[in-house]
Amino acid sequence: VQPELAGDFGTLMEWADGVRRLKVRANAETPLDCQTARDFGAEGVGLCRTEHMFFDADRITAVRQMILATDEAGRRTALERLLPAQRSDFAAIFEVMAGLPVTVRLLDPPLHEFLPHEENDFAEVATAAGSDIDVLKRRAAELHEFNPMLGHRGCRLGVTYPEIYETQARAIFEAAIDVAEKSGAAPIPEVMIPLVATKRELDLMKAVVDKAAQVVFAERGKTIEYLVGTMIELPRAALKAGEIAETGEFFSFGTNDLTQTTLGVSRDDAARFLGAYVEQGIYAKDPFVSLDIEGVGELVQMAADRGRATRPDIKLGICGEHGGDPASIAFCEKVGLDYVSASPYRVPIARLAAAQAALK
Ligand code: PEP
Ligand code: MG
Repeated sequence: VQPELAGDFGTLMEWADGVRRLKVRANAETPLDCQTARDFGAEGVGLCRTEHMFFDADRITAVRQMILATDEAGRRTALERLLPAQRSDFAAIFEVMAGLPVTVRLLDPPLHEFLPHEENDFAEVATAAGSDIDVLKRRAAELHEFNPMLGHRGCRLGVTYPEIYETQARAIFEAAIDVAEKSGAAPIPEVMIPLVATKRELDLMKAVVDKAAQVVFAERGKTIEYLVGTMIELPRAALKAGEIAETGEFFSFGTNDLTQTTLGVSRDDAARFLGAYVEQGIYAKDPFVSLDIEGVGELVQMAADRGRATRPDIKLGICGEHGGDPASIAFCEKVGLDYVSASPYRVPIARLAAAQAALK
């Protein structure tokens, strides 16, 4: 337990835990983040982003090799190289979170972020892949995107290159079994597919994950429980949540992207006009900090209702930045979500806010 949570404040937090209904998880992607989150009272990981696992200095060449490969065999060769490191990353996280649910989100960066720019980066990929540097440069130019945040990211990567998600799922299940065998406390992986807009996308990606699970379980002679679900972070996903819940075993509201796509405002550029918008009363608050309850919030409510109508026991959470904002947490309580997920240092605030919301 963190020292800040000892003494009277700790007692207050215990009272809060006694009255709150919402579970509180953390957005954490390293063992250290997970430990901090646990020490602050997190009851699981609500969002383990996996992009950092691909940007690591000693992996990036293999990642670039994978992205620049022109066929599945080339991608698979690079992915095989990345598998052991991913497996040990997931195992370290599962060990810290032993016995608690960990939502792992499959890869979701705009693809171009992986592209090499420097001559020596291209040279390293050329050596690793045994390919011609000019061919790699042409391929990189082909992969340029004009609007990457609306481009080839999220499950679109998984649909076009299923072997990426297959390898990630493999690493997750292998790590989960390793940790279960070592510690006796089986982790509960929840595999989350990003940027889904249609049921068919989720059907295809769930099939990839389920197949990877079956292969690993057969190889290891052991099974573990897991769930496959989706982020709800596009307006269309919220509208079609009833259908998507036929496949998705949980929804996690990605309110960063849901805010961006609903308001049509770039999450990276809103600061340019935010001051004027708040001053003019157009936005009550920064919509990327506090949920726009009458706008984006209505989509959250709609998706929760439609999801539950199809699958009454669907697990519902939020993992956008709003999951650590007290006013947004009060809204999540009203909608009846099961948990909020916040950055590790906001977990205590979220515990208090969840209790206040329950009391209200
Ligand atoms: C989101 O969109 O709300 C989310 C949690 O995902 P990311 O911030 O990684 O896009
Ligand atoms: Mg997102």
